[in-house]
Amino acid sequence: MTAVAELVDFDEVVATYDPVLGLEVHVELSTNTKMFCGCPTTFGGEPNTQVCPVCLGLPGALPAVNGAAVEAAIRIGLALNCEIAEWCRFARKNYFYPDMPKNFQTSQYDEPIAFNGWLDVTLDDGEVVRVEIERAHMEEDTGKSLHVGGATGRIHGASHSLLDFNRAGVPLVEIVTKTIEGTGARAPEVARAYVRTLRELLKALDVSDVRMDQGSLRCDANVSLMPKGATEFGTRTETKNVNSLRSVERAVRHEMSRQAGVLAAGGSIRQETRHFEEVSGTTRPGRAKETSEDYRYFPEPDLVPIAPSREWVEELRGTLPEPPEVRRKRVQADWGLSDLELRDLDNAGAIDLVAATVAAGAPSGEARSWWVSYLSQAANSRGVELGDLPISPAQVASVIQLVAAGTLTNKLARSVVDGVLAGEGDPEQVVESRGLKVVSDDSALLVAVDEALAGQPDVAAKIRDGKVAAAGAIVGAVMKATKGQADAKRVRELILERVGG
Ligand SMILES: [Zn+2]
Repeated sequence: MTAVAELVDFDEVVATYDPVLGLEVHVELSTNTKMFCGCPTTFGGEPNTQVCPVCLGLPGALPAVNGAAVEAAIRIGLALNCEIAEWCRFARKNYFYPDMPKNFQTSQYDEPIAFNGWLDVTLDDGEVVRVEIERAHMEEDTGKSLHVGGATGRIHGASHSLLDFNRAGVPLVEIVTKTIEGTGARAPEVARAYVRTLRELLKALDVSDVRMDQGSLRCDANVSLMPKGATEFGTRTETKNVNSLRSVERAVRHEMSRQAGVLAAGGSIRQETRHFEEVSGTTRPGRAKETSEDYRYFPEPDLVPIAPSREWVEELRGTLPEPPEVRRKRVQADWGLSDLELRDLDNAGAIDLVAATVAAGAPSGEARSWWVSYLSQAANSRGVELGDLPISPAQVASVIQLVAAGTLTNKLARSVVDGVLAGEGDPEQVVESRGLKVVSDDSALLVAVDEALAGQPDVAAKIRDGKVAAAGAIVGAVMKATKGQADAKRVRELILERVGG
């Protein structure tokens, strides 16, 4: 059934069906070298400069396991409350793809390094959903194909394709959930919250830079519908490589409406991969989904099994960071936040940034205010994540310190931040180059005060008669004359001194 059916309104979908989710997240580990060779893993290198016989799959090349990647995989498993295998192997997953030079991917099949875990996920309104983890296994990334000549980089309409193997062999951990049932209308939100929570956890573990925009964290969302009351799952589709949190939610939501539409039109769901289109918010079909038999998995003969000792596993357990949820509660107490304030901070993705700003010497109130309001707006208008803004917590802390020292007013501070965001350097440099210092020299201010008083003699007279509120007009004139670079409070004092004296 390939006909395009009408989408069904979301409320109607959840009134008729129970959605079932399964989420697969691939995370690229931030090890220095690849999974089975010594090539560097740096992102953005010139094509095919980070390759060797092993990751190019040349005949006779022999792989060796990267110990740091195994360590990271075990730590991820432990943080996800998984059991760690006493003994496990790599397996060859056989298929042909131009960007995979060996014609098989070295992965793990029935013997993953970690299995049977869970992750608690907090939704926006505070409800906690426990997502069960089926497994976390190690594998290697593929290379990248670049299609040239067609629209939007797709193979369709391209004149030729180029291959870059720099990414081939980069260590990955794939984290697979068990089926997630019973979430109803909240399924799209649960999917987003799961990926967000997982990303936060991986970041705290410091095992990956978890950049969805650069593909170091990618989510495949499996979605199916079953009629309410049914016990058998419907056929699922797998929307591949969704690359932002918002898109995860939109892709699940769209897939639910689309599948309900196909079913309402009397069609059946095809088991297939799909691709999410950012612009339209829709999914389009990819390839018909293979079953695991198609991959002819077999144990990798060139690599020895991995048998992590229980002592080592316990040692690694000791290196786990404070779980993000526990940390959130601690931060709430330390910074004296209401539940709502904490949620705003969390939703803005700002907890780490505020913590780093506080660590750089700023009071938590000011740090929070900058990140949640002015900088969040800046991130929104640029369409980037807060943490990707070109300003560091240390720079925000130094702006806050400049305000506290009286060098900047709040208004000038915003201009300094704009300058930092525009790439004009550190706050101190922007203050210099934009000439943004508060005029704190009283003699310079007095000249402006005298001019303003002389310009509005009627106001001056009112102030002299004791109508102190009238001073506001003179303060305004002085601020205008100094282009906002005066401390309004000091200006007011000088006006009253001048008129009163
Ligand atoms: Zn290599």
